[in-house]
Amino acid sequence: MKLLIAGLATETNSFSPIPTGRLAFEDAFVSRKATDETPNLFSAPLHEWRRMAGEKGWEVAESLCAFAQPAGPTIRGTYESYRDEILDDIRAAKPDVLLMSMHGAMISEGYDDCEGDFLTRARAILPDAVIGLEIDPHNHLTQEMLDACDLIISYKEYPHIDSPDRARELFSLAADTVEGKIKPVMRDYDCRMIAMFHTTRAPMEGFVADMKAAEGQDGILSVSLSHGFPWGDCPRVGARMLVIADGDADKAADTARTFGETLWGLREQIRPDWPGIGDALTRAEEANASPVVLADFADNAGGGAPADSTFVLRDILDRGMKDVAIGIFWDPVVVSMVQDVGVGGTMDVRLGGKVGEMSGDPLDLTVTVRGVKEDMHQWMGETQMRMGNGVWLEADGVHIIVSDKRTQAFHPIAFTDLGMDLQKMKAIVVKSSQHFHAGFGPIASEVIYISGPGAITPDYANIPFTKRDPNYWPKVENPFA
Ligand SMILES: [Zn+2]
Repeated sequence: MKLLIAGLATETNSFSPIPTGRLAFEDAFVSRKATDETPNLFSAPLHEWRRMAGEKGWEVAESLCAFAQPAGPTIRGTYESYRDEILDDIRAAKPDVLLMSMHGAMISEGYDDCEGDFLTRARAILPDAVIGLEIDPHNHLTQEMLDACDLIISYKEYPHIDSPDRARELFSLAADTVEGKIKPVMRDYDCRMIAMFHTTRAPMEGFVADMKAAEGQDGILSVSLSHGFPWGDCPRVGARMLVIADGDADKAADTARTFGETLWGLREQIRPDWPGIGDALTRAEEANASPVVLADFADNAGGGAPADSTFVLRDILDRGMKDVAIGIFWDPVVVSMVQDVGVGGTMDVRLGGKVGEMSGDPLDLTVTVRGVKEDMHQWMGETQMRMGNGVWLEADGVHIIVSDKRTQAFHPIAFTDLGMDLQKMKAIVVKSSQHFHAGFGPIASEVIYISGPGAITPDYANIPFTKRDPNYWPKVENPFA
């Protein structure tokens, strides 16, 4: 038996001014032998698949694995060249099983659905192979993807700590399929909702437990929730349930509908009712325990935001707050100048506010350099994400982390590896929508999500879609009417 494994992933924010081209991929991760490198969110599945195939004595061919930090639409030539490189390897290897690690919300110039385009072409090369796809739950699950694949599984957790777990499930189901033990059939259900689904607390924590409990029972092989990615301008954006059943399409469809109707019933508990910047900072100032962790939801690089917005930092400085940490700002120019000055130096910097209107205005600050470190990394579950070179600047009791690689604040190590003691902080502001929760949740006295300005504000009713019809909650109160 022969397996081919590959990965191609980015999450496209149609409204981000940052282009996603070859340099953006190379800055994040491009490898022709990803399984020889440290696993990250999107390459971790390849490691699992290679290991499990080895245990079965299968031959393994490995093609490209590439991902870029979420940003604007992928440059057409970049997508096409990576796509064609993997397709050429598929054509040459003619595997019995193809397993792909993708995102599911990649949009390129001329392609609203890169995954559907890629997988349709792969299926044309491999009409009889088993094709399995592992995707991020922030995907736009399309009919093209469903038609081309035998098996699609998305991560269940947000933060995405479970990509290796889902990879092992996908491999097992693909092996059972190619060995004739099961006949997977997939059906999806359109929930007509656009929202973010945090699985770290009720009600989504219980919903994930219910999805897992249904698997392996009564012919149900797998249950996934496609959360959707709200800032991707394409016809399919929104939440969908996906169920794989063994040979029974009606059972798959009925189960998907049942879960989808349950999700619909939870919508008011999911509606983001979060404080603005001022109220959030007041709550942190008045808190009895520390550190309070505040999420700058709208400036999350992982959703395509620039990660250089200054709205929250300006308010912190204006209030004269002390013992506050904030990061990670993306500002390569500042990092480079700070590296030359070194630890202990004092300097004037113009920080942030550079990429676009959603970045706010730059801040002119006099800072002391408190830490400098090259080639930093952060943890995302068991996987490792590159952070680039980082610096710790202090401006009168406010501690600012800046990096030269655009990335969200995944984990406290982004602060502590520079020498900062987070237990001494009254508040920690993280530029992240939810992935921060895996690492920061355990040290937080309280977590507050901020509803502030930025590139990805949680105002789902007013996203300026041009390709999606407006019949979704919360744009309309009942899209099923
Ligand atoms: Zn995601």
